Amino acid sequence: MQHDRAGAAESGNRYPLKSASLPPIPTSTLGSHAPLGWLLTAMDAIRRGEYGERDIDETLTDAVDVAVLDQQRAGLDVIVDGEMRRQDFVLGFYERLGVEPLPLPRRLGPEGHDQRGKWLVTGPLKAIDGLGIVEEYRYLLAITDRPTKATVPGPFTLAGRLELNGHYVDRFDAAYALAEIVNAECKALVAAGADFIQIDEPSMAVYPDRPRDLVALFNHTVAGVGAKIATHMCFGNYRGRPVAWRSYASLFPHLGDFNADQFNLEFANRELAELELWQEYGGDKELGAGLIDVKNYRCETPKEVAERVRVALRYVAPDKLWVVPDCGWSQTARWATVRKLRAMVEGVAIVRRELMG
Ligand SMILES: [Zn+2]
Repeated sequence: MQHDRAGAAESGNRYPLKSASLPPIPTSTLGSHAPLGWLLTAMDAIRRGEYGERDIDETLTDAVDVAVLDQQRAGLDVIVDGEMRRQDFVLGFYERLGVEPLPLPRRLGPEGHDQRGKWLVTGPLKAIDGLGIVEEYRYLLAITDRPTKATVPGPFTLAGRLELNGHYVDRFDAAYALAEIVNAECKALVAAGADFIQIDEPSMAVYPDRPRDLVALFNHTVAGVGAKIATHMCFGNYRGRPVAWRSYASLFPHLGDFNADQFNLEFANRELAELELWQEYGGDKELGAGLIDVKNYRCETPKEVAERVRVALRYVAPDKLWVVPDCGWSQTARWATVRKLRAMVEGVAIVRRELMG
């Protein structure tokens, strides 16, 4: 295994993302890497005003380097930048949208979803300087030879934290305005060299009651984007807590209508529930099966991961299956993140050897 990994790392040239150039059952991760202890200390100092602009840039750049290094050492096939320049997945984007932070309704007691701030819309939503993801992605390309994926927050999820203040009729209306911004960012990513873009729409799994409207919004968001498109839909992970009825059953009949090539969904934390539905609804889509539980500090062994992959292969064709964690790692300690990523890669390697006979 060690030898295989070294071989992959030495293969040199950045190969374009084509299934032929990736091993069977590719592995990747969903966006955020684990928080780094020293980065949290640095962020406190930054908030106290102790860092200059260049100090901040150096610190965040170092954090991205560490996130990429952790993934490469674990042996992931497709690398992300770890979203180290973002706070709590989407917080950093609101500052770019010209909306104003509202006071938290609850500040005391156990941390949870009702402590996530909302933002007041004060005019038409726009991001004059974009969302900043293109700059993140350019840096990622500069530091890794491996295939990469850009991760972009979806408009429906972004709209969920907005207090519309009479500027938009409802969440969908605001989401369509944000879809223009996200679409422009995706096209700029493609121009910068991105061939694989993941649109993060956890809220679509949390609020699945208007599936046809969700499909139309998603397709509008990715219209004309010339890249392989993935999406991630989950049931929430803020402070390691879900925020939804944890079922994809109402979304699954509509999967074929989404202009997405790949769905990255949460299964490990639900003891692989609903994986069997993929057989009925997956069609020609790829499944990025979440087989690693980011909320559970019990670390999977490679053998356990291999067994989960075998279960997934009962319902998903081998050439349509990717293996990923349930969600990003922003709420998981780094030691557990690294251990789980390694188990994921080693578990998949066991099954690859079986497949190749
Ligand atoms: Zn998630």
